[in-house]
Amino acid sequence: MTAYVLGHKIPDSDSICAALALAHLKNAIGEPAVAVRQGELNPETAYILDKFGLEAPVLKTQFADESVYLVDHSDRAQSPDDLDKATVLGIVDHHKLGDITTSAPLECWIRPVGCTNTIIKEMFEYYGVEIPRNIAGIMMSAILSDTVIFKSPTCTELDIKAVKQLAEIAGVGDYEQFGIEMFKVKSDVQGTPVRELVLRDFKDFDMSGRTVGIGQLETVDLSVFDTIKEKLLADIETLRVEGNRHSVCLLLTDIMNEGSELLVASDAPAFIEEAFGVTLKDGKAWLPGVLSRKKQVVPPLEKRFA
Ligand code: MG
Ligand code: MG
Ligand code: MG
Repeated sequence: MTAYVLGHKIPDSDSICAALALAHLKNAIGEPAVAVRQGELNPETAYILDKFGLEAPVLKTQFADESVYLVDHSDRAQSPDDLDKATVLGIVDHHKLGDITTSAPLECWIRPVGCTNTIIKEMFEYYGVEIPRNIAGIMMSAILSDTVIFKSPTCTELDIKAVKQLAEIAGVGDYEQFGIEMFKVKSDVQGTPVRELVLRDFKDFDMSGRTVGIGQLETVDLSVFDTIKEKLLADIETLRVEGNRHSVCLLLTDIMNEGSELLVASDAPAFIEEAFGVTLKDGKAWLPGVLSRKKQVVPPLEKRFA
């Protein structure tokens, strides 16, 4: 039976590239697998796949009576809604352990590294399977994306080592320059509807029974948001009300100056202010050094909501 390999809802480059890489590995070791996606590709991921000549996984959101491998997440909020009716064969992830449980033993590869693709690189080595040039290219790209070209506090020595080796296989000479080009594509927000920007990299978190949505837009130049910041603020308030969320936070991350502007819509903004030790001015605050939602934004919020 063919297993589906899928990343989280609103897929990012890691979720898509990890699904493709793991499906390739599984097929190579005689376990039929096909990569799928739960949502639309973002422009960065489309750029990566185009660069290395790979087709996007097909869209699939229902998995009743199917077998699945989950990559880049292990929590139900990020999984398909009917996951209960599927068999989870395995999880490959680099986030905090989520709330997915299974009724049968499963394969688990969970490590505190910067990117799921770094773990999949280790899996290729474990099984002694050669990584094809195009798969190496997308794996390298995903690691550069998730680690913000090694600047994120989530980045480890293993991630850096993996990028160097994958770049060599993929025939990419200057991987840092490649990373900057990739983030320039990410920074191109002109003409994109505000809601699409808010949801481009958006995750809901259950924080002690309250839903907190956190979006992130990474850019090489924060000034691209100058003319749309007020619209973004208005839209996250609409999104908050629509989804019965306690709060919605949007991080506008400046990867060059290494920090994030936090935009907040909340029932109780004081929660957010206390979590980060800042005072919001017109729903905004600058968070110096904050690049990682996973490591620098979710934990202080969870602590405050606990
Ligand atoms: Mg991800
Ligand atoms: Mg990831
Ligand atoms: Mg990310």
